[in-house]
Amino acid sequence: MALNATKLSDFLKQKHVGFLQRCLRVLPSDLSFFDTHRLSLAFFVISSIDLLNSNALLNEERRAIIDWIYSMQIPPNEGIGKRGFRGSSANSGDPYDFGHLTMIYSALASLIILGDDLKRINRQAIVEAIKELQLEDGSFAATHGSESDMRFVYSAVVVSHILQDWSGIDIDKTVTFIKKCLSYEGGFGLRPGCEAHGGSTYCAVASLSLMDKLNFALDKSEIKSIIRWCVMKQVSGFQGRPNKEPDTCYSFWIGATLKILDTYHFTDVNANFDFVMSTQDPIVGGFGKNSYSPPDPMHTYLGLAGLSLIPTTNKILSTINPEVNISERATEHLRCIHRQHCV
Ligand SMILES: [Zn+2]
Repeated sequence: MALNATKLSDFLKQKHVGFLQRCLRVLPSDLSFFDTHRLSLAFFVISSIDLLNSNALLNEERRAIIDWIYSMQIPPNEGIGKRGFRGSSANSGDPYDFGHLTMIYSALASLIILGDDLKRINRQAIVEAIKELQLEDGSFAATHGSESDMRFVYSAVVVSHILQDWSGIDIDKTVTFIKKCLSYEGGFGLRPGCEAHGGSTYCAVASLSLMDKLNFALDKSEIKSIIRWCVMKQVSGFQGRPNKEPDTCYSFWIGATLKILDTYHFTDVNANFDFVMSTQDPIVGGFGKNSYSPPDPMHTYLGLAGLSLIPTTNKILSTINPEVNISERATEHLRCIHRQHCV
């Protein structure tokens, strides 16, 4: 089913750009708990501006933002767990000042979007961090001694893909862990035995695809069950689990999973578009998780990313790469880095 193109006029691009520019400078106090994860907030804002085809707005600050991201890179040889990127300077120098797998991804993805050549990245330290954070069961911890689950499997895999260096990952163990997280329901849980969830299903499917193990790890009936589970999560927008309300972010998590599995056309794009647009804030811009929640950087980004999966929205948004979760324009720059012909 194609999107009714007249709906695109409801999209308030300039409001969203204004909201994102404000988020780059100051956030409301109710987002203060994100303070140790500033890099991921920066990624949501920078990638949103990219999807809105408004990169030129960052020109004046581009160098300063790139330097700030690199300032989060932990110098080598600081000890166990002290490799990669910290999420914020808030913990700098204290006992919890660890590198964090998702912050490494946020840093690399943001640098690629900003057109950086990644030449100041300490690749060896990052690969060693990934190796250090893989556990015996194949999963990955976020930081030294922290919880381990599918979110950090994806972070380790996508960072290895970006660096084109897989030596930090035991791929066989990783695939075994992912496979054990496949629930009887059809989707993937965060860990073996957990309820299937839209976010962990995305992380599992995108990881298998990036490792080129999708068809090796899953047989046809399992892939069919995953597709069915994802399609059944559409209730207008998408819910993350059965009997939950729809939430803007799952338009990306589940939509991108279906895109990777080449079955996005099974979704009702008009109902999905209408739901995401109902979470658009017409006064200050941005998107919330639902129509009665205030806008925040994460749901704004994932709302835009979810909308960009709908074919007709390329009139208002860049197309997104569903596996790496950056625009196709940024992906082209990444390919350029991979070819080592980056200028
Ligand atoms: Zn959400």
